[in-house]
Amino acid sequence: MLPLVALVGRPNVGKSTLFNALTRSRDALVHDQPGVTRDRHYGVCRPEGQRPFAVVDTGGIAGEDEGLAGATARQARAAAEEADLVLFVVDGREGASALDDEILAWLRKAARPTLLVVNKTDGLDVQAAVNEFARYGIADRVAVSSAHRQGIDTLIDEVLERVPEEGAGTELDTDPDRIRVAFIGRPNVGKSTLVNRVLGEERMIASEVPGTTRDSVSIDMERDGRLYRLIDTAGLRRKARVDEAVEKFSIVKTLQAIEHCQVAVVLIDASEGVTDQDASVLGYALDAGRALVVAVNKWDGLTDYQRQQAEAMLERKLGFVEWAEAVRISAKHGSGLRELFRAVHRAHASATTEIGTSEVTRALEIAYETNPPPVVRGHVAKLRFAHPAGTNPPTFVVHGTRLRTLSDTYKRYLENFFRKRFKLVGTPVRFVFKEGT
Ligand code: GDP
Ligand code: GDP
Repeated sequence: MLPLVALVGRPNVGKSTLFNALTRSRDALVHDQPGVTRDRHYGVCRPEGQRPFAVVDTGGIAGEDEGLAGATARQARAAAEEADLVLFVVDGREGASALDDEILAWLRKAARPTLLVVNKTDGLDVQAAVNEFARYGIADRVAVSSAHRQGIDTLIDEVLERVPEEGAGTELDTDPDRIRVAFIGRPNVGKSTLVNRVLGEERMIASEVPGTTRDSVSIDMERDGRLYRLIDTAGLRRKARVDEAVEKFSIVKTLQAIEHCQVAVVLIDASEGVTDQDASVLGYALDAGRALVVAVNKWDGLTDYQRQQAEAMLERKLGFVEWAEAVRISAKHGSGLRELFRAVHRAHASATTEIGTSEVTRALEIAYETNPPPVVRGHVAKLRFAHPAGTNPPTFVVHGTRLRTLSDTYKRYLENFFRKRFKLVGTPVRFVFKEGT
C-alpha cells in the first residue's frame, strides 16, 4: 500500500507550503495544464529513485464541522488517525504556542508515530529553534524551511525510514500479461454499478486476489480472452448508506488504486458534466503517469439535446487529456462496455510498448529537422540524440545543449510528434531533458 503521511499543525505554521514542497510534481508541463484542478489537501510525494507516499494536509485540526467543508475536515482528521506517520508541523520563528500544546494533546490521544517538523528555520540558529520544542518529548525532530526547500530531502529520508514497506503478496507480484485496471471517480458517478455489472457478466471467471485486505479488494478476471486485475474495487465493499456517500469517497484509497494500476478508468457522470472533483481525480492519474480512459457514464438517461451538450462539454473540459479516449457507457444497462475494454487495452498497449533506441533517436532527428527550436534571445537549443527510459508512461530522454531555452510549445510539439510516430494513445508521455552530450 501507498503509505499515508499526515501534516498536522496550527494555522500559519507552513503546512500548505510544506505540502507543496513535498507533492508538487517536477513535471511542470503536466502540472500547470489549464483545466486540471488540484486538491490542496491530498497529494503524492514521489522522490526520485525512492518509494512514493501519500500526503494529506489536515488543515487546522480544529476545522469547521458543518457541510461539505466539515466533511472534508472530518475526512482529513480520520486520515490523520489512520496515518502511518504524522508530521507535527510547528513554527521555528514563533516558537511553541498554546495551540501547539492543544494539538500535541490531541496527537497523544491519537497515538500515531509522530515526527516533529520545525519549519521556517531559514536564517535561524537551527539547533536553538529545534530545542525550543524539546519539552514536547518528541524524540524525532527535523528542521526545514519549506519555503526555501531546505531540509526537505532529509525530511523525506526520515519519513521513508518510518513508514512501512510495500507488503508481500499484494498487488505488485502480478502476472505481466494481466492488465491492472482501476475504476475511479467521485461519489455517485456509478463505480459500483459498473464494477458489479462487469463482474456480473464475468462471474464465472473472476476471483478475489488473496492478500487484499478489509478495505482493499482486488479481483482477477478474464474478458474476451484477456486477463485483468481490477485494483481496489470499491464497488465490492458493502454498499454504504446513502447519507455516507461523501464519507465513503476516500481520496487516499483513490490515490492507492491509481498507484497500483496501469490503466485508470476515470468515470464521469454525463448528466452532471466534468466537475472540479472529476478534474482533480484526472489530475492524480496524470501525476502518477497512468494510462487513462474516460468513461462517460449514465449516457442512457440523456435526451438528444443533452447528449449534444455533454459532447460539447467533454470537448471543452477534457482538452488537457485530449490523448485519452472517452467512451460513452451506461453501467446500468451494460452498454459501451465492450468499447470501454477495448480502449483500456489500447491504452495499456501504448503505455507498455517497448520502443528501440535507434527508433527514438531517429524520431528526434526528424522532429528536429522538420521544425528546429526557435532562437530565444540569441540562443538556440540543440537536440543531439534521444533514448527510451521506461514505459507506463513511455519516457524519453533527450540530450542536447541550451535545453533550458526550450519553450513549452516546443516540448508539446515534440510530444505530439512522438505520439503520432509511435501511435501512442491513452497514455501520458514524458520527456526528460539532459544538458550536455
Ligand atoms: P498553513 O496555514 O499551516 O498551511 O501555512 P502556509 O503554508 O499557508 O504558510 C503560512 C505563512 O508562512 C505563509 O506566509 C508562508 O509564506 C510562510 N512560510 C511557510 N513556510 C515558510 C518557511 O519555510 N520560511 C518562512 N520564512 N516562511 C514560511
Ligand atoms: P459510486 O458511488 O460511484 O459507486 O456510484 P453508484 O454505482 O453507487 O451509482 C450512483 C447512482 O447512479 C445509483 O443510483 C445508480 O443506480 C446510478 N447509476 C449508475 N450507473 C448508471 C447509469 O449508467 N445510468 C443511470 N441512469 N444511472 C446510473
